[in-house]
Amino acid sequence: MQISIVWFRHDLRIHDQPALAAALALNGPVIPLFIWSPEEERNWPQGAASRWWLHYSLMALQEDLRSLGLNLIIRKGKSLQQLQTVIQETDARHLYWNRRYEPWAIQRDAAIKATLRDQDIEVHSFNSHLLFEPWTISNKQGRPFQVFTPFWNNCLTKSVSSPLPPPCPCSKPAPKIDSLTMQELDLLPHIAWDDGLKKAWKPGNAGAEALLQRFLQEPILHYAQNRDRPDLEGVSRLSPHLHFGEVSPRMIWHSVKKLYPKGAGDSYLRQLGWREFAHHLLFHFPNTVDTPLQSKYAAFPWLQNKDCLHAWQKGQTGYPIVDAGMRELWTTGWMHNRVRMIVGSFLVKDLLIDWQEGERWFWDTLVDADMANNTLGWQWVAGCGADAAPYFRIFNPVLQGEKFDPQGHYVKRWVPELAHLPLRWLHKPWKAPEDVLKTSGISIGNNYPKPIVDHDVARMRALAALKTIKESHV
Ligand SMILES: Cc1cc2nc3c(=O)[nH]c(=O)nc-3n(C[C@H](O)[C@H](O)[C@H](O)COP(=O)(O)OP(=O)(O)OC[C@H]3O[C@@H](n4cnc5c(N)ncnc54)[C@H](O)[C@@H]3O)c2cc1C
Repeated sequence: MQISIVWFRHDLRIHDQPALAAALALNGPVIPLFIWSPEEERNWPQGAASRWWLHYSLMALQEDLRSLGLNLIIRKGKSLQQLQTVIQETDARHLYWNRRYEPWAIQRDAAIKATLRDQDIEVHSFNSHLLFEPWTISNKQGRPFQVFTPFWNNCLTKSVSSPLPPPCPCSKPAPKIDSLTMQELDLLPHIAWDDGLKKAWKPGNAGAEALLQRFLQEPILHYAQNRDRPDLEGVSRLSPHLHFGEVSPRMIWHSVKKLYPKGAGDSYLRQLGWREFAHHLLFHFPNTVDTPLQSKYAAFPWLQNKDCLHAWQKGQTGYPIVDAGMRELWTTGWMHNRVRMIVGSFLVKDLLIDWQEGERWFWDTLVDADMANNTLGWQWVAGCGADAAPYFRIFNPVLQGEKFDPQGHYVKRWVPELAHLPLRWLHKPWKAPEDVLKTSGISIGNNYPKPIVDHDVARMRALAALKTIKESHV
């Protein structure tokens, strides 16, 4: 009998799941397996918000697998060792997984493949996470792209394969083996800080489908106009579902193309292109996780300032749009893309704090923390990556707030102490006249912070710092 194992990783779904489909096609018993091995993720084990998500995502996967007559087996420890143990316990001869793209995962998976093949196990890996494998896209010289638009134009010359047909239930009973319980994985916080996450999200494929269907009905048609507005429901919020593989990018692609064949959904699909670009860069430039792609930035004179870093992390900088974003992140595990750019610019340029501090904080607090997208985002913000915002372009947090949160709804939601301040002063409360502050119930420095830096001064300081690295590279 052809017993097979499907090793689930960042593909926690049953639909359009190539590894699962290949195992089911063998018509033998199938053992879905998840291995918790955070120590293999090198310096980047999942943060607290990601672990929270993973707990509920695995529970949802368990349910979905049961509908196919399958039982998820959960283990923890070194992946190779656990795989060998399960192979031994079940006599499985086939192992299937979908590829991951983090540099450490590529190395680990290659080593596992080689070892198990030597032991006569048939090992097969698939693409389930991306529209295009990173190594299939290259420029005329055969090199990786470093600029988004030509990268995406090149992708668009290729076709996106169709999603797989829905899986059929498996009628062959799998050998009974032990599994850890979800509680034994100990992924949930011991101190209950996760109320905001529970209110904001429904991890798992059903949650992803609900968001996708809502987004496809209407918001996608206004995406180009609304995608920069954190006060509107203009974006899909699918990022954690995509990161954990609860929905497949090609299912999204084909749903959009089917509903809007004349291209009304293309500006949204272009954003999925940034996700592809991020994986392309991570694959070809694996060091960018902790090294700037533009090497001259390695010598940037960052400041060490724990108080400022802490004020930024807690949303206490005195700049309302920055504080709103950081508090949204802390409460829900997510932040709107425009606001990620604003808070990132503030950290790196106004506070002169190393982008890697921001990268780390996001890693711990985002439910969508993703090595490819987070690295691209932070190097973009810091001006040291591929196709990045030039370092000398420094966001003014007041003007950004006024432009992208014009009615102040976003700030009032996340910084409620400013709720009664007239719109004219909302994005710059320290400039409001005393009597306005008083009637609005605000006392700057007491119940809302004074700005921790003066933006105009900070801007000049950042430009001067940039000059030092430019001069050292002439
Ligand atoms: C400093 C910084 C850090 C970031 N860290 C992450 C991260 O850890 N994980 C993450 O998924 N995204 C990250 N992003 C990218 C982006 O902010 C989020 O993907 C987006 O806000 C998710 O919301 P959404 O699903 O509603 O996006 P939508 O606007 O609905 O876009 C759809 C999908 O496209 C992809 N996407 C959109 N914008 C980008 C982008 N700029 N780069 C890469 N992919 C994109 C995402 O998968 C997203 O779910 C970061 C951006 C910045 C500036």
